[in-house]
Amino acid sequence: MRMIPVIDPGRCSECRGCVEIAPEVFRFNDQTGLMEVAELPEYPQEKVAEAIRFCPEDCIAWEQIDEGDGGRAWPGPQPTDDRRRAAIAVRAAVPR
Ligand code: SF4
Repeated sequence: MRMIPVIDPGRCSECRGCVEIAPEVFRFNDQTGLMEVAELPEYPQEKVAEAIRFCPEDCIAWEQIDEGDGGRAWPGPQPTDDRRRAAIAVRAAVPR
């Protein structure tokens, strides 16, 4: 088991504050319109903790994963497809 940061796309406002704090971990994907978490062998705990504290939507959290998941390529740990579809539906329904 190891800990990875994840973003709840349904709550993320894409302020990109997390990118300012930890650009090696968090990125905005122009194609999907969603924030992403990079696949890294280890995550800088202090920087991720700072991003969690900073996040105005409180939508970054640590998640435990099985090492047996196998290597996942970029964009790395992401919400499930169901959560992604829900986030996109919410985004389409709520003008920003
Ligand atoms: S700081 Fe939070 S709300 Fe802002 S882009 Fe990052 S995850 Fe989204």
